[in-house]
Amino acid sequence: MVESLGSRASACRSSTVAVLSVLLLAGCVQSAEEADANGNSNRKAEEDVSMRELTPEEEAVIVHKGTERPFSGEYYDHHEAGAYVCRRCGTPLYESDDKFDSGCGWPSFDDELPGAVKRLPDADGRRTEILCATCGAHLGHVFEGERMTVNNVRHCVNSISLEFVPAEEGVEDAAREGGVESGVEGTDDGADRARDERGDATGRAYFAGGCFWGVEHLLQEVDGVSEVRSGYMGGQTEEPTYHDVTSGRTGHAETVEVVYDPARVTFKELARLFFEIHDPTQVDGQGPDRGSQYRSAVFYVDDPQKLAAEELIGILKEKGYDVATEVTAAGPFWEAEDYHQDYYERSGGSPYCHTRQKRF
Ligand SMILES: [Zn+2]
Repeated sequence: MVESLGSRASACRSSTVAVLSVLLLAGCVQSAEEADANGNSNRKAEEDVSMRELTPEEEAVIVHKGTERPFSGEYYDHHEAGAYVCRRCGTPLYESDDKFDSGCGWPSFDDELPGAVKRLPDADGRRTEILCATCGAHLGHVFEGERMTVNNVRHCVNSISLEFVPAEEGVEDAAREGGVESGVEGTDDGADRARDERGDATGRAYFAGGCFWGVEHLLQEVDGVSEVRSGYMGGQTEEPTYHDVTSGRTGHAETVEVVYDPARVTFKELARLFFEIHDPTQVDGQGPDRGSQYRSAVFYVDDPQKLAAEELIGILKEKGYDVATEVTAAGPFWEAEDYHQDYYERSGGSPYCHTRQKRF
């Protein structure tokens, strides 16, 4: 979504190889006309979005643009740390850090996740309606100039349009302390970690290929892969949040960490798959997601990984692909917020931008 550093878009929320064999050849959808003036793009064409079935109460607000009674909703007086996602499609919309008590009886936020919320003149001719930019769900209205917070903006959102995903900070904090060097990822894979510390049995690979939701989803079920996590790598700041990374200013790329058993699957096999589930020729973007945070990259952890990646790129170039993938030494891996992990498993959808295309 941002052209500042190089370019890239908003994070993807994502999730394999049983699936891969079924996937058809289909590149990412190029839809530049969906990008707004800030370079933000709708994450998916609305018809591609996997949407939950709604209860009549949800439908009255989300589809028919009704308004829940003030002080009646689940979240107007809700203060846990986490993210608020679209009730219908699961896209992250707001973070708890941006929530404030406005006294109006509806959840109020003075900022949104970049590109997540669309504004339209309301049918009443006075107000500005806000909708989920991904699926068009009615959220509520946005008001400016009330001076309630420094940002001077109030997103007044129906609770019923939202679903809260807790941050589970303990896990996240632990994860954030771990870089590549420490090998500690804050998860409960004690066995893997123990094996890792001995330096055998577990391999790690880091790939960036656009919205991490899709890359994670497709690598997850490869035989021999025990874990895939979404996160950020390749930037200049510590502990970046999704919000930071989507700004395009930290230099990070949405990256997946693949933990695998080298006896069952090799780095090269994983890298080949990586080159076939994203478009390695697209510069600073993937499908509709534009910006350096969506760039294509292999972050290698040792020389054999570097050589394997370069060899595969050489093969692709011989076949006429103008490969844009950068091959760079891995830096710290910052695990993404919980609401980005296993996105497609949780939402029941399928990647909008990642399908397998045979290239080798
Ligand atoms: Zn939505």
